[in-house]
Parts: sequence; structure tokens; C-alpha cells
Amino acid sequence: MPSTEITSTRVSSGGLTADYRVLVGNGLLASLSDLLSEHVPAHRYALITDSNVGELYADTLLATLRAGGHTVDLFTFPAGERHKTRAHWATLTDGMLDKGYGRDSCVIALGGGVVGDLAGFVAATYMRGVPVVQVPTSLVAMIDASIGGKTGTDVEQGKNLVGAFHAPSLVVADPEVTQTLPRIERAQGLVEAVKHGAIMDRPYLEQLEQDMPALLDGDVEAVRRAVARSVELKAWVVSADERESGRREILNFGHTLGHGVEAASDYGVSHGSAVAVGMFLEARLGEEMGVTENGVADDLARIAGTLEIDLELPSGAAPNEIMSYLGLDKKARLGRPKFVLLSHIGKVHHADGLWSQSVDGDLVRDVLNAMALKG
Ligand code: NAD
Repeated sequence: MPSTEITSTRVSSGGLTADYRVLVGNGLLASLSDLLSEHVPAHRYALITDSNVGELYADTLLATLRAGGHTVDLFTFPAGERHKTRAHWATLTDGMLDKGYGRDSCVIALGGGVVGDLAGFVAATYMRGVPVVQVPTSLVAMIDASIGGKTGTDVEQGKNLVGAFHAPSLVVADPEVTQTLPRIERAQGLVEAVKHGAIMDRPYLEQLEQDMPALLDGDVEAVRRAVARSVELKAWVVSADERESGRREILNFGHTLGHGVEAASDYGVSHGSAVAVGMFLEARLGEEMGVTENGVADDLARIAGTLEIDLELPSGAAPNEIMSYLGLDKKARLGRPKFVLLSHIGKVHHADGLWSQSVDGDLVRDVLNAMALKG
């Protein structure tokens, strides 16, 4: 029997925008009409979703919102990262303009991280900014993408290169909808949950490892507990630092080498799997430097196994190629790549007031070579 518990976590944007709430609870989608009236009243709502999520949830949601007295139109774009484009941003904003949406409107982003980013960017730019309510439907979006206010589109030159910070006015996460999420997408989202445990909360990581089979099977109560805890952890970091500097950097654990692996595979390796590899490699790096407690990398490898993720470098991506992407990574400073390193599970190494450390490139290459040889 799914729990009816609803958690409400406050996120502060450091005065940039009003604080907002992230609500997590089973069945919350059915209450969206009342939640909009209470938290984000607007003249008109643009419900933006993708083709997959739209097919599953749009009709019911439209009916619920209209029955609640809201004026709402549906705007759908094709599902998938390759559609997170300026072209679809233009189609969506043109659609809203054609229908006469004004400044007193509000965007509802119903979907995974792709919808959250693109619809969030529509909201950030439409009439110089209208409110957005994030209604995340994938685990990646619930645990990560819907919180923090990063929005944007991919362009030919790279991912997420055109965008804006635009904090949501409200986030409504209903873990029940993850039951329709493919198992492989669940695993991808859980990688971020593992990261949250690894950088901030050892007991949470232990609980995740224990619950992993249930989480992958889509056990609604296990998913609700994990989403609620990850939301609390991410909200805490984001509230401490709404712009990506300072403490927020710890969220990049596993992402520097993860991005290298993802890019070297020409995005053939999914983001979550690449971050799992990145976390393992960055833990190994920390161990080699004497910064990270021995055994942490092996712990993370074991947990990746419970997620059914193979820890290997993409075939054809030589360590040198991965290295070449580090120089281009936006987290690199003065040519020496910077890494968030763990002290131990649950704690990031913090030295000289910095949450990331620049690392000798030769050591990075050695760690990559060691993994390539093992694979
Ligand atoms: P996604 O939005 O493409 O969703 C994955 C797939 O699952 C899609 O096919 C989608 O249609 C489908 N889907 C979503 N919810 C579903 C449901 N309940 N039932 C059935 N199918 C469902 O990808 P994602 O993994 O959710 O998010 C990845 C995107 O998020 C990337 O573009 C990434 O850049 C972005 N992201 C943004 C942030 C941020 O801070 N803004 C953080 C992390 C990731």
C-alpha cells in the first residue's frame, strides 16, 4: 500500500527569486489543480510535455485541471534528448504567442529532464519570464533536474550551451508515475541518488544499496523514500549556493570524468552510466592521492553492480581521448582538471576553502589506463 505521506522541502534561491517548495508524495498529480490554485495562480497555463509522457498522462491531467476551473492548453514535442533544441523552443513559444498567452500565464513542465529543461527555458524567456511549475516524471528529473533552476537547450556545439537560470515556482513530484518509467531509466536516475549518498549521507547510501532491487522494480514506497531524501539533500546544497560555485560544486562529483566518458563515446554511453564510471574513477583518483579512504572506489563499483550498470570505458574511447575532453570541460581551470574528491563515503574533501582540487593530468591518465587495462 503506497504511503500517503507528503514531504515538502523548501529551496532558497539566495534572494534571486522567491523561495519555492518541492512536494513529494504518491498521488500528488491528482491534486495538481488545487496546488496550482494555492501556490501559482495564473490566468492561463501552458502544459508542456513530450510525446511519451503526453500519451500517458496529458489527457487525464488536462481534464483534472479544467475540472478545477483552470484554463489550460497542451503543447507537445517529440520525446528524446535530440529534441531539446532551439527549434522546439521556437515552436513552443510561437504556439503560446499564437494562442495569445500573456505575462499572466504559467508554464507547467510535465516530463523528464528534457521537458524540464526545455519548458523551463520557454518559461524563462517567454515575455521575459513567466513562472514555471516543474512536474517531473522521471527519476532523473525528480531527484535532480527539476531542482535548482537550470534550464536550456542543446546546440550543435554541445549540450546545455544555451539556457538560463530560472527557478521554478513549485515542484510537484508524484513517485507513482515512475511505474511507467522503463527500468533502465530508473537505474539512470538512481545513479544521481547514489551520488547524493556518496557526497553527503552514508546511511542513505546504505539504505539505497539495500533497497536497490525494489527501487529498480519500481516499488512505489521505496521510490518515494529515495526521492524525498535526495530532494532534501539537493535542496540543501542548492539553497546553500544557488549559483554554480562554492558548495554546489560537490554535485559535480563523478561528472568531470563522467562527461569525458560520455563525450568520448559520442554520447553512446548514457549520462547515468557515464557518471557511475566517473564516480568510480574519481574515487580511485582520490585514493591514489591519499585523499580518499581506501576501499571507496570498490564500494561504488559494487553499488553500480546493484544498478546493473557495467563499469567499463566505452569501446574505442582511449584514455587519451577522454583526457582531451577534460581540457574543454568547463570545470577545468588553468589546464589542470579540477575534481570533487571524497574523504570517505558521505563526505567531500574540503581543503583551503575549496570543494574541488586540481589534479595532475598524469595521475588522471594512469587511473584511466588502469581501468582500460582491466576492461
Ligand atoms: P528524458 O526527459 O529524455 O526522459 C527519459 C525518457 O523517459 C524519455 O523517453 C521520456 O519520454 C520518458 N519518460 C519520462 N517520464 C516517464 C514516465 N513517467 N513514464 C514513461 N516514460 C517516461 O531524460 P531524463 O533522464 O529524465 O533527463 C535527462 C535530461 O535532463 C538531460 O537533457 C539533462 O541535460 C537534463 N538534466 C538537467 C539537470 C538540471 O539541473 N537542469 C540536471 C540533470 C539532468
